[in-house]
Amino acid sequence: MEKRILGRTNFEVSVIGFGGIPIQRVDKDTAIDIIERAKATGINFIDTARAYTNSESLIGYGLEKAGRENFILATKSMKRDYDGILEELNISLKNLRTSYIDLFQFHNLRSFEELDQIFSEKGALKAIKEAKEKGLVREIGITSHSPEILDKAIDTGEFATIQCPYNPVERQGEELFEKAHRMNIGVIVMKPLAGGAITNAKLSLKFIVNNPNVSVVIPGMDSVRQVIENANVGKNIKPLTEGEKAIIFEEAEALGTEFCRRCGYCLPCPQGIDIPYQFLMEGYYTRYNLQEWAISRYNNMPANARDCIECGQCETKCPYHLPIRKMLKRVEEVLG
Ligand code: SF4
Ligand code: SF4
Repeated sequence: MEKRILGRTNFEVSVIGFGGIPIQRVDKDTAIDIIERAKATGINFIDTARAYTNSESLIGYGLEKAGRENFILATKSMKRDYDGILEELNISLKNLRTSYIDLFQFHNLRSFEELDQIFSEKGALKAIKEAKEKGLVREIGITSHSPEILDKAIDTGEFATIQCPYNPVERQGEELFEKAHRMNIGVIVMKPLAGGAITNAKLSLKFIVNNPNVSVVIPGMDSVRQVIENANVGKNIKPLTEGEKAIIFEEAEALGTEFCRRCGYCLPCPQGIDIPYQFLMEGYYTRYNLQEWAISRYNNMPANARDCIECGQCETKCPYHLPIRKMLKRVEEVLG
C-alpha cells in the first residue's frame, strides 16, 4: 500500500483510508473483522464522526482487537461551541476506546458564519486547542463540502488538514488541493463515489489517487470484500489508461451535476419524506433497470415525493444547493 505524508502532521498514511459511515450497518463481530482486515491490507487511516451513530463504538472494538497503535485515527464533531465540542470529544474518546485522537476535525462547515462561531471567544477551536495541549488531540483539521469555506479556513493557519469531496464528477476542489499542498496541509478526500452515484469504484479511486495533491481518500466500507478491493487500488498505482478515462468521464457526463450524493443533511423533512431515498429509487429505475422493484418500494414508503408541500426547508440545508422540490416532482413523474 502506497503511503503519503498527511501535510504538516507528518503522519504517514495509507493512500486508501477507511471511511466510517457504512460500518454503522454491521454488527460488532463483523466490524472487528473489517478493521483487522484493514490493518492486514495496509490501511492505517480511519475516519469517523460523532454524527455517524454507532460508527465510533464499532471502530473502537476493532481498534481494541487490531491494536490502536497501528492506526492514525480521525474523528469529527458538528459542535461549534466550547462546551459542546468538549462534551463530544469526551464521548469520542470513550467510544473509540482510546486516550487520544490523532486528528480531530470540525465537521461539515456549511457557512462562513459557522467558521466565525468556531473562532469566537466561546468557540470550539479554543476548546480543541486546549485539548491538544493536554495530549487528547494531536492535530486539528476541518471538513466541508465547500472549497470556498476551506480556502478561507486554511488561510487562518489553524488547520493541519482539510477534508472535501472529490471524484470524477466533483472536481471543484482541485485548485484548493493545489494550494493546500503548497501550504503543507493534508488533503483528505471524502465522497470518492459521489455518494454512491458513481458505480465504478475502482476507477474512481484510481482517478483520485492519481492526483498527487491528495494525501488520502476515505471510501466507506462495510465488508471485508470491500476492504480488499479498495486497498488493492492503493498498491502499485499507475496512471489511468485512455480506455479507463473514457469509461469514467462517460459516467460523469451522464450524471451531470444535479444529482443527490445521499449525505442526508437535508433531513428531517417535516412531511417525513426520506429525501435521499426518493432519488435512490429513481436511480434504480432509470439507471439500473429495476423498474418494477423501484416502483413498488417507492409506493410502499410511508411518505414519498408526492407528499412534499414545497416548504423549501430541505433546500436550505443541502450542501450542493440542489433544487430538491423540482427534483422530487421528477421522481413522482417517474415512479408515481
Ligand atoms: S420542500 Fe418538500 S421535501 Fe423539502 S422539506 Fe419541505 S416538504 Fe420536505
Ligand atoms: S438532497 Fe442534498 S442534502 Fe439531501 S441527501 Fe441529497 S445531496 Fe444530501
